[in-house]
Amino acid sequence: MFLNIRDMEVRPIIFDLTYAPGEIEFLEAGLRQRTDLKVEGRAEWLELVEEIHLKGSFSVEMESDCERCLELAVMPVQRGFDLYYRAANSPAGGGEVALKEGEVEMGFFEGQGLELLEVLREQVLLALPMQRVCEPACHGLCPSCGINRNREQCSCVSELVDERWAALKGFAVPAPSALEK
Ligand SMILES: [Zn+2]
Ligand SMILES: [Zn+2]
Repeated sequence: MFLNIRDMEVRPIIFDLTYAPGEIEFLEAGLRQRTDLKVEGRAEWLELVEEIHLKGSFSVEMESDCERCLELAVMPVQRGFDLYYRAANSPAGGGEVALKEGEVEMGFFEGQGLELLEVLREQVLLALPMQRVCEPACHGLCPSCGINRNREQCSCVSELVDERWAALKGFAVPAPSALEK
């Protein structure tokens, strides 16, 4: 939905929308949208300060590959937003904006308004946990044999240590061929 300033000048835009998976591009970020994204809120044009005020909330379930074991990681997201956007080409906009203390972070829009879809994409990315894991206690894959350590156990730990010692030995003792020269 495009939030057009001309419409907002008449009255605030009240929205209650559903974005089906695929409508918002998430693949680039390694994410898949699992459920409909539901969003409701309002967009208002603040005449005096020439800013769009966008306020509302959304919910969606996202998924990706677990960072540790590559199995499915499901991430429910529910979040409110309260955002202000200023025209990028306005005298006050663009470049650095000195924010007064306590002032919210300012976004920028170009042209006649703001594409809600873009805002939502950004908000979903911000709302996701730093670590995308199937569960916080995921043990991940064994770096040595690749086994999923949530399901099976391997005996690679000792082998890993052995490898490290072997590397150290190789460094300290010159190869026989080097000694002969
Ligand atoms: Zn996992
Ligand atoms: Zn292993």
